[in-house]
Amino acid sequence: MSLETVSAPVALPEAGARLQLPIDGMHCASCVGRIEKAVAAVPGVASVAVNLATERADVRFAGAAEAEPVIAAIRAAGFDVRQESLDLHIEGMHCASCIARTEKELRAVPGVIEANVNLATERAHVTFSAGSVQFGDLARAVEKAGYHAHPVGEPGAPAAHHHHDEDAKKLVRDTVLAALLAAPVFIVEMGGHLVPSFHMWIMQTIGTTPLRVAEFLLTAVVLFGPGRRFFTSGIPALLRGAPEMNALVALGAGAAFAYSTLVTFAPGLFPESTAQVYFEAAAVIVTLILLGRTLEARAKTHTGAAIRHLLNLKPKTARVVRNGETVEIPLEAVVKDDILMVRPGETVPVDGEIVEGSSFIDESMLTGEADPKAKTVGAPVVGGTLNGSGSFSLRATKLGADSVLSQIIRMVEDAQGAKLPIQALADKVAGRFVPAVMGIAALTFLLWYFLGPAPALPYALTSMVAVLIIACPCAMGLATPTSIMVGTGRGAELGILFRQGTALQTLRDVTVIAFDKTGTLTKGHPELTDFISLEGFSRDEVLALVASVEARSEHPIGKAIVTAAEQAGLKLAEVSDFSAEAGFGVTARVAGKKIEVGADRFMTKLGYDIGSVAAQTAPFGLAAKTPLYVAVDGRLAAIVAVSDPLKASAAPAIAALRAEHIETLMITGDNQRTAEAIAAQAGIDRVVAEVLPAGKAKVIEDLRAKGGTIAFAGDGINDAPALAKADVGIAVGSGTDIAIETADVVLMSNDLMSVATAITLSRAVIRNIKQNLFWAFGYNVVLVPVAAGVLYPAYGVLLSPMLAAGAMAFSSIFVLGNALRLRGFTPPRRQEGPQARALPLTAQQSARAT
Ligand code: ADP
Ligand code: MG
Repeated sequence: MSLETVSAPVALPEAGARLQLPIDGMHCASCVGRIEKAVAAVPGVASVAVNLATERADVRFAGAAEAEPVIAAIRAAGFDVRQESLDLHIEGMHCASCIARTEKELRAVPGVIEANVNLATERAHVTFSAGSVQFGDLARAVEKAGYHAHPVGEPGAPAAHHHHDEDAKKLVRDTVLAALLAAPVFIVEMGGHLVPSFHMWIMQTIGTTPLRVAEFLLTAVVLFGPGRRFFTSGIPALLRGAPEMNALVALGAGAAFAYSTLVTFAPGLFPESTAQVYFEAAAVIVTLILLGRTLEARAKTHTGAAIRHLLNLKPKTARVVRNGETVEIPLEAVVKDDILMVRPGETVPVDGEIVEGSSFIDESMLTGEADPKAKTVGAPVVGGTLNGSGSFSLRATKLGADSVLSQIIRMVEDAQGAKLPIQALADKVAGRFVPAVMGIAALTFLLWYFLGPAPALPYALTSMVAVLIIACPCAMGLATPTSIMVGTGRGAELGILFRQGTALQTLRDVTVIAFDKTGTLTKGHPELTDFISLEGFSRDEVLALVASVEARSEHPIGKAIVTAAEQAGLKLAEVSDFSAEAGFGVTARVAGKKIEVGADRFMTKLGYDIGSVAAQTAPFGLAAKTPLYVAVDGRLAAIVAVSDPLKASAAPAIAALRAEHIETLMITGDNQRTAEAIAAQAGIDRVVAEVLPAGKAKVIEDLRAKGGTIAFAGDGINDAPALAKADVGIAVGSGTDIAIETADVVLMSNDLMSVATAITLSRAVIRNIKQNLFWAFGYNVVLVPVAAGVLYPAYGVLLSPMLAAGAMAFSSIFVLGNALRLRGFTPPRRQEGPQARALPLTAQQSARAT
């Protein structure tokens, strides 16, 4: 019995929400029916109408609009929903509970599919169906939630930062002003409590009422000057029935202030024993919370330091050849195809290709790899990297937003805005937390007032204020985003880019990592090691024929054979009827002869009996070489072996993964025996060999079906489907080509150790988040009852509202400080292990490679 039949939604078209979705991939009327059927089956959908001409689906819901399941259904039916996204800078958010409310308002905008708000970056990332939403619609929704929204321009645009600076300066000014005004109030009241003679002296020289009036004036200025922000956003929030952190401060400080004001100006209303003032509490609370926010703003700027550091890498000017002359122009004035000069020791100004000269270039700021890379004519260079001692000129290829650096920054910013599953929980709790605290505060007041010791009113008041102040869920809101920000930033420094922020959490849980062999574990540049011509064929003649065919192939094996033929000084011939069968081999006609080259299974498929040469090819596999067979005009003509040596970092990386208790697996189209030999050298646990290119994704699927969290590491060249299928797709050594859509994590470096580094980093970040959440929640859970006075009956302990304010500020600072520790994250050390075993072979292979 399906769920829908039980709780079929009653169709109430006029009452429900409506969603317009632009659809891609509709070509025929039958598509309409298919989409309508798929969408109608989604629970909660009341009706759907698809228009082929406008390519839109008009969906009506029984209740609230739920875009995600509808989009999933459309996708499952084989179509796509065109989406756009917009980033907003949101001003005035200060607590975790703000997030849920703002997201709710944004999601309620018709057409919005998803909205994610990040407290640390003060940004909202909103996805909506294309063309349905304007910035103004979103800004209005943000206003409704009680904040202001600004558009966000280019990544790290100066405008946004400038704005930030203004905010920060005002905050500092307000904090100083509040402190100066609160100080006399605090000294008079506290000094009076601590030193009775001081109290006596003040009473005699000034008198009670003038003193109180003076305190009233100072405190009023603190509350309604620097502290006004708490009231202007807290009170409306409270009235809307959606109280947040500002509301708690406003209520807490406001209650203390109002009570004291009444005592000052209408003392007759109160019995003698309760006629006390708490101006100092109100003033100090506001001051301390402002101080906390100032420190928080400081720390927040540090959390984004890694990205800003990337931005600063680019020089301001570049030397361009124009009309035969070299002129220095601002970087923004460089256009595509400009020829730029780079001198020794300079930073490469833009992305480009070397057209003259050569040098070694330090790319460590992008890849985390320390060794400078040799670059000559034709080599790509990346803006922001550091030139060594050579000089060269380059042709500008990618500028502005297309540049590698901009792409990296955008990617990191996207990831930093991501919401981990762990945070969704925190947000939910925080959203319920404030109303709950208000309830507890009210209850505290009533209990103290009716059951507490005399004088009941002051006790009830101070306990209630303490509860309101200490319960601010500020630290909760910061716990996750700050760690993500610092962690992803540190990752970027190490050449580890998280395209999906959520990959941070998934990567941590990885149990199995499957590696693609060619180009990922191995160098990806195989070399021909053996060429044995069979009876009746001449070596050079067959090699020339094979190389002619392979010259047309994209496969690295093809390149190996061509290189070998060129080195032997052989001439390549004209080729016709070329065809390649992925994962098997290639065929073509050369000089009237039919040539077939490929793996053993290719030959078997073509009907050759390769049993006769099995004895000759067996040793190849054992030596980690890939055996190939050549047939000329239907007769086996040669057996060939190519060898693709392991990267030096393969074995240490596998050892490091094993130390993290992660199982390793190799997937390859190569021969079983060859694959096993290579896996043994690297220390890999399991091998899945002779997999056709299209089968890699299937292998990943099977692994996932068996349980566990599966990562796939590939070079992204032909393993995009496998990268996409894995729980976490890791693109290794993509170098400058970082826009690999299907990968969740992009490793700039070719060094496999960075796979292990990515995993230890993700573990460190999640651990850090958990510490933060533990501290933020634990602190509230422990201190709210203390503030309410549960320790009072037994121990006489009460938390003064001022201490509560201090503790609250401290908890946010602790969380930020803890997150900042991630800046010091260091990659795991290389371990000596199976590498030693593999040395003889690796040495032999790399000797050949050079
Ligand atoms: P992998 O990515 O693991 O190297 P492929 O699927 O690309 O696997 O290739 C599998 C096998 O198919 C190769 O090991 C080789 O035996 C054969 N093959 C593929 N392309 C060619 C080619 N151009 N020439 C000869 N053999 C080839
Ligand atoms: Mg590959």
